Amino acid sequence: MLKGKTAVVTGSTSGIGLGIANALAAQGADILLNGFGDAPQIRALTQGLAAEHGVRVVHSAADISVASEVVAMVGQCVEAFGRIDILVNNAGIQHTATVRDFPDDKWEQILAVNLSSNFYAIKAAMPHMRSRNWGRIINIASAHGLVASATKSAYVAAKHGVVGLTKVVALETAHSGVTCNAICPGWVLTPLVQKQINDRAAREGISEGEARMRLLADKQPSKAFVTPEQIGGIAAFLCSPDADQIRGTTLSVDGGWTAQ
Ligand code: NAD
Repeated sequence: MLKGKTAVVTGSTSGIGLGIANALAAQGADILLNGFGDAPQIRALTQGLAAEHGVRVVHSAADISVASEVVAMVGQCVEAFGRIDILVNNAGIQHTATVRDFPDDKWEQILAVNLSSNFYAIKAAMPHMRSRNWGRIINIASAHGLVASATKSAYVAAKHGVVGLTKVVALETAHSGVTCNAICPGWVLTPLVQKQINDRAAREGISEGEARMRLLADKQPSKAFVTPEQIGGIAAFLCSPDADQIRGTTLSVDGGWTAQ
């Protein structure tokens, strides 16, 4: 379905981003992986993806909290593959503390990574998409783009911002072949969530398994984690012709979290 197309997936050396990169590569898209990790791990990822799906894969080590690095990453994709058709703004970070105790630098960093990077990447990719009158912009927001939780001020503010940005971009591209939507996952068991499970186990003096169950029970009625593969499948669907008129919306994949 995506043969001849190219995708930039930010934060795709781990977790959800890797699931999305896999799903798009499986459809034939060439992939620019972005994210941190040690060199052998990243080499294994790029070579593995390329070999498994018969696509071209390059890696960008851009720190997407820096606008100029985001622009350079989009440029690297165009230089390597000649085009950018799909942009998945996925990279994200978390820090939990009440507003009173929330460090200013953490606030700035979360806003930069989780929100501002999306703006800079979209701005850089848009002319390339418009020139071919086809494009897919998929922003990985969160259940926290729709509802809030205590101790997550920066994350919730950034993710609500992502949902707002998604709507604006969708309206600005409504008469074109470029679409922009947001996916809003609930709990997915990735390193980002594992840290919250470990913190909870330590805080409440319980086992990791019990902390995992309590985390799910608090928010996610299905009491089952969403998987990176499922998010990847939804991203691939958004790239299909069936999704041509899905514009400016949020797709909740949250085990019922936001139905409550
Ligand atoms: P993760 O920690 O497994 O992966 C994060 C990725 O982002 C890694 O590849 C990391 O190297 C990269 N990254 C971090 N900071 C970066 C930076 N400054 N520049 C470039 N790359 C950077 O996280 P995840 O759980 O897979 O989260 C992916 C996205 O999904 C995030 O936006 C997160 O907010 C969102 N999300 C996650 C969950 C969940 O339960 N895991 C739920 C809802 C939304």
